[in-house]
Amino acid sequence: MMILPQWLYVLQMLPIMLSPAHVSQHNSHLNAYLWQGKRARISLFKLMLPRRKGGLGLLSVSRFNLACQLRHIHDWFCDTKYFSLPEIECYCFKPYHFSYLLHALHLPDLPQLSSHPLLPAMRRAWKSLCRLLKINSRVTSYLPIAGNGDFSPGLDSGPFHRWTSVGLQYISQAIQHTGLPISFTDLTTQFHFPAADWFAYRQLQHYLRNLTPAVLCEENYTKLHEVLGLTAQDLIPLKIYHGLLLDCLGDIDFPTLARKWTVDLQVPITADMIRKGLCLGNALRLSSMEWERNYKFLLRAFYPPKRAHVMGISAEHGCGKCEQPMASFGHMFWTCPLVSAFWLQLVSAVAQLWGCSWRLHPSFLITLQIRFHPPKPGCSAFIKRTILLGRKCVLLQWLSSQPPTIQQWRALMLQQMLLERRDIVDMSAKTGRLFRQCWYSFSLTFTPYVRRQLWDA
Ligand SMILES: [Zn+2]
Repeated sequence: MMILPQWLYVLQMLPIMLSPAHVSQHNSHLNAYLWQGKRARISLFKLMLPRRKGGLGLLSVSRFNLACQLRHIHDWFCDTKYFSLPEIECYCFKPYHFSYLLHALHLPDLPQLSSHPLLPAMRRAWKSLCRLLKINSRVTSYLPIAGNGDFSPGLDSGPFHRWTSVGLQYISQAIQHTGLPISFTDLTTQFHFPAADWFAYRQLQHYLRNLTPAVLCEENYTKLHEVLGLTAQDLIPLKIYHGLLLDCLGDIDFPTLARKWTVDLQVPITADMIRKGLCLGNALRLSSMEWERNYKFLLRAFYPPKRAHVMGISAEHGCGKCEQPMASFGHMFWTCPLVSAFWLQLVSAVAQLWGCSWRLHPSFLITLQIRFHPPKPGCSAFIKRTILLGRKCVLLQWLSSQPPTIQQWRALMLQQMLLERRDIVDMSAKTGRLFRQCWYSFSLTFTPYVRRQLWDA
């Protein structure tokens, strides 16, 4: 992790686009680090999503690389000088417009273009940006009117350059939101063209009609405009570019995940429950390790019986406890009579301890959110720990024929309580008060020695 900041610095400073082979090599190193050399259980793509979308916000090196290059493209389009010097860099593109060179399939045969220090990387960045936004990288509304190599020689005439100087630079300005050309009268009123420009207009119109109107529509234009930050003349922080690119990644498919859980646990689980469960990290005072455990649980914990067997998490496709054939993960975690008896015992033990009642529903395995009555301070924190460690008990007895027991759960809870106690210096401070609220009634069920360890200090 010491190498990463240095690596990111290089990516920010140099106009290079990493090749897909380099990116995948980087990702495989990252996977090996995250999963300690074992097979990855959750795809890197999911982990790279922003937290609010159910990911872990892991750095995506390809997106970061692209974000760095977009800063140069922004400078070219906006004629700003934060990272590039447009007038020098674009000088040697003449007679072509830089935007045409970004769009062109092949570069025109000019020696200064192939040896340009920025152009090759920018062309690749443009292509990968368009691929990401699902638009055609060869035809966008940012094709230039003057300096466009697609016009036949001799057509790229004086009027086009004059139009550029009065502000009509890109074809987005000459088309309606449907992608069809604007009428000559409208352009004349807007840019004060002389009537003699009618012939140049006809040439432009002919060119525009040959482009597919659908690819020029306003929606595509807005996407590019947003990601490149073209309205801003001020310096845009890199993290904004990066964030916008990450937003293009999409979402975790919560409805499918919910459907699988529903089939597995045989009770309705909604996409919202899973989303809540995944985003829990910020809302709950869970340790990062607990949160990670919950995260993994939600994303990977449903397996059809056959797969569970292949992975070694079930014996002979069936449940090792009640011997039901073809038992799913949900069965072994929840519906198996022996396991559900454990959950029921757990619920009654906690209800007795707190003098409150709570309804048993498998959704709490996922959201860790339980409705209980009446609410008492510290009770919800205690119940969250109960569920996490209850799940751990089930996992500890996974392949055994014996169901988990309340004693195991009590032992785990005691360990957790002592661990949390170790970090608290002052019992009268806020963390100390919360600790007492959460654990006091539970601690009374232990011997006077344990109680002294906890409360006399
Ligand atoms: Zn069973």
